Amino acid sequence: MPANPEEIHAAEHEKVDIQILAAPTRLIGEDGKLKAIEFLRMELGEPDASGRRRPVPVPGSETTMDVDQVINAIGQGPKLPSSEEDAAMSSLPVTRWNTFGGDEGSQHTGQEMVFSGGDVFRGPMTVVAALADGRKAAYAMDAYFRTGQIQSEPVLFNVSKGTLKTIDPEPFSVFKQAPRNRMPEIPVEQAVSSFDAVELGLTEEATRNEADRCLVCGCSAGFDCRLRDALTEFKVKWRDQTEKKIHFKTMQAVDSNVEIVLDPNKCIRCQRCHIACMTFQCSDAIDLKEYPTFIDGKCVHCGLCVDLCPTGALLVKRDGRAVDRFDWKSVASHCVNCGIGCALDLKVSGQRLVWIKDGKQEAPNHSSTCRRGRFRIYDDLWYGQRINQPMIKQDGSWQEVSWDQAVDAVVQGFKRTADTAGAGAIAAVGSPQASNESLYLLQKWLRVGYSSHG
Ligand code: SF4
Ligand code: SF4
Ligand code: SF4
Repeated sequence: MPANPEEIHAAEHEKVDIQILAAPTRLIGEDGKLKAIEFLRMELGEPDASGRRRPVPVPGSETTMDVDQVINAIGQGPKLPSSEEDAAMSSLPVTRWNTFGGDEGSQHTGQEMVFSGGDVFRGPMTVVAALADGRKAAYAMDAYFRTGQIQSEPVLFNVSKGTLKTIDPEPFSVFKQAPRNRMPEIPVEQAVSSFDAVELGLTEEATRNEADRCLVCGCSAGFDCRLRDALTEFKVKWRDQTEKKIHFKTMQAVDSNVEIVLDPNKCIRCQRCHIACMTFQCSDAIDLKEYPTFIDGKCVHCGLCVDLCPTGALLVKRDGRAVDRFDWKSVASHCVNCGIGCALDLKVSGQRLVWIKDGKQEAPNHSSTCRRGRFRIYDDLWYGQRINQPMIKQDGSWQEVSWDQAVDAVVQGFKRTADTAGAGAIAAVGSPQASNESLYLLQKWLRVGYSSHG
């Protein structure tokens, strides 16, 4: 039966009586009302030319079943208007399957300014296929408005490691096998007697567990790999022939740098990391033989080699794993860890900081950062250590208070100290993260407010 195993299981769970190999032949009525349906039993015959065993009727197997209602659900297809109903139809190509014809790359129907996609283009298919058509059509429309030419979106160079049955399982052995988290459902009695949604949705914990089952099998640099860009530009095709297969797992990923993951399998020996570290960063921390290795004690963790690696052979490490260089949103910002204020390019997913690049050769750092700006900012944000609400210590423990309460407590504290010990007892310590303007205000406040030079 052409249905998903999940759908068959759900139907049987709700006590649906599925009759397999039964072909309806007629509906039987009584007193003007539907009473029963008649069907013929079928059996699988000899294989035909395609090797498929076609069902053939079992003679004399007519069976009737009493029914209240019959719902015809034997397939789906587009319902196109006739050319009388819509004059535009007369100029559109319609296939014998009652779908619009056209170009698969651009979704253009051949008729000026008309594109199609989804079920009306390819017949009954998935939502994902319809979304892909929409994306291709959007690209072609954009190109048409800009150039007057219908163009298809370039086909990205893709390469596959193979199927779950053929790939080397060793790289995935670090993952613990875990069963799929079951979707909670309403009781079956409620499901068969109401139109309530049957699936209740996963809990947050189950959703996290489900995400943890991911094998992270894709390439972490798939969106900005410059090697892939070049292969796409030159229309290189990946030919998945046995004798031409790439041996992906030739070397273990090297885990010798606390901040950086090095996967030698992706290295194309372009030497960018080596040259940048030697001539720009002046650390000379990368030895380039068969593939790059970090020289003990020399790396200052500026992250420059990660930014320059074109293939994702060098990636930022968080929690022991490489951080994916997906198509994250870029936010221009600067580091607040010292007064230099290096320009940074924050890669953000929603409200979450994913990783940090240098600030595109902007002053004052011109592509170079130190370890604190590049790697340490994460800790506060990733691990929820950031303080975003004022707190006052009361009875030995920190209590969250409003900003007004916090400012009032500070003012009272200074006043108390000045009243009891004199203004000279008040001193200030400036933060290296403060700007010149803030530090100027700080000393002004001390001198004018308390006649103190501390
Ligand atoms: S992080 Fe900086 S210092 Fe370390 S190897 Fe890369 S370029 Fe050199
Ligand atoms: S920049 Fe990347 S690809 Fe180039 S040599 Fe270094 S690790 Fe290999
Ligand atoms: S990246 Fe380093 S040098 Fe630059 S502002 Fe931050 S702490 Fe200072």
